[in-house]
Amino acid sequence: MDTLTHRIGGVAIESAKTLDVINPATAQPVRRLTMGDNATVDQAIAVAREAFPAWRDTPPAKRAQVMFRFKMLLERDAEAICQLISEEHGKTIEDAHGEFKRGIENVEYACGIPELLKGEYSHNAGPSIDTWSNHQPLGIVAGITPFNFPAMVPLWMYPMAIACGNAFILKPSEQVPSAAVKMAELLEEAGLPKGIFSVVHGDREAVEALLDAPDVKALSFVGSTPVAKAIYQRGASNGKRVQALGGAKNHAVVLPDADLDSAASTLIGAAYGSAGERCMAISVAVCVGDETADALVEKVADEARTLKIGPGNERGHDMGALVNAGHRDKVAGYIGQGVESGAELVLDGREHPLVESSPGYYLGATLFDRVTPEMSICREEIFGPVLCVVRVETFDEAIALINDHQYGNGTCVFTRDGEAARRFADAIEVGMVGINVPLPVPVAFHSFGGWKESLFGDLHAYGPDAVRFYTRRKAISQRWPRSEHKEKAQFNFPSN
Ligand code: NAD
Repeated sequence: MDTLTHRIGGVAIESAKTLDVINPATAQPVRRLTMGDNATVDQAIAVAREAFPAWRDTPPAKRAQVMFRFKMLLERDAEAICQLISEEHGKTIEDAHGEFKRGIENVEYACGIPELLKGEYSHNAGPSIDTWSNHQPLGIVAGITPFNFPAMVPLWMYPMAIACGNAFILKPSEQVPSAAVKMAELLEEAGLPKGIFSVVHGDREAVEALLDAPDVKALSFVGSTPVAKAIYQRGASNGKRVQALGGAKNHAVVLPDADLDSAASTLIGAAYGSAGERCMAISVAVCVGDETADALVEKVADEARTLKIGPGNERGHDMGALVNAGHRDKVAGYIGQGVESGAELVLDGREHPLVESSPGYYLGATLFDRVTPEMSICREEIFGPVLCVVRVETFDEAIALINDHQYGNGTCVFTRDGEAARRFADAIEVGMVGINVPLPVPVAFHSFGGWKESLFGDLHAYGPDAVRFYTRRKAISQRWPRSEHKEKAQFNFPSN
């Protein structure tokens, strides 16, 4: 079995500790992963420290040229990288291509870095004084990423961080590490100086080494809420800039006037796509009125029963396996809790034939009706192919239910009523809102981020917020008085 190494300063490096990477569709190990420690992180920091000054001084237009080449290389190798994503994560190859394309959008955005880094300038801000402000890179920054988007989430971070002039150390999820290494090799091929992008594999030890290293100036994290919170607190108390995106529970409100056929079809994709392992997956449908709920449940159940489930790397499946045995069992446990708490189980994913017949970590699509807000299946993030239907009587009740929830990542309303849609967008306490769009993941030229327990820190990921996060502002005031102008000492605070 091959060993996947760290990529530090353009060199493949191994550590003594290893971990097997498992294919969730077969439950078989596919490669061994080298697992880093404090010393590995120190090594990545040392090469980054050496490479940073020259990269900081490289004109943004030249940095953009690296990004242009990187984009072309990503497109050249898309199929190979997406095969690796599907093999390690379990998602379908088509879905892997979907996340990959959305990831490349961020490289395209980073190609515009000369325009994005243009500062502001005021001529004659005072007598013979001009003032300008610019964005300067922070130095070494790090990213820690989750299992569910092996390419896209890292691409939310490092193209913009690097384009802004920083050096970046990525600690990808140990469950899906290969895409990160492939992309590091492509960045080198694109001409990125060695040391500006390194990949260090590992677990908590490597993450804590990054959190405690004084040379690491900022940290972007995406993962579960308990880890996000701990990382935010430790990083911030060490004086770092931290953005930590956490878990989610995303609600779709279905109003009685909605196009129910369209709502049901798009909801199925949003709930069961990637086996529900998406931070923007819709996991609760809040139906206003029993008639709406009855019709929606029937349509969703009919379509969900026909989903094609199987190995992600065989084309034509709608859903693949879940990422690992523990996670599959956890999701199945939630289905049990839903039944015990009195929710109506319309479709039971535990009964899918693959659950018994395949060694892979499969579960079928699950649908619960008559779920109530205090049930654990409604309160907690399940992160699996489980959709809960909650019945309410009024639109206000639906809004209050979402606003009372601990998470606030994404949400959606299905309606034909513009006034209701506008009210929803204004009143809902959630960071990303869809109107008849169940997965409102913003394109790369907007930023991505939730509210409440879904994000710790103030700046969102990618888009314009990435420039703010990965740079610091400096305001420079310069005076070139005319030679005939004689200065006198001034003791009052200078003003115009
Ligand atoms: P996770 O929190 O278990 O792991 C995320 C990363 O943190 C991994 O790289 C992991 O190695 C590291 N890590 C895990 N435990 C740690 C610890 N105790 N200390 C330091 N580092 C640790 O998350 P996951 O299971 O890989 O991903 C799924 C979660 O990510 C879900 O909760 C999902 O909602 C969330 N997610 C959120 C977003 C978002 O944008 N808000 C996007 C994708 C995924």
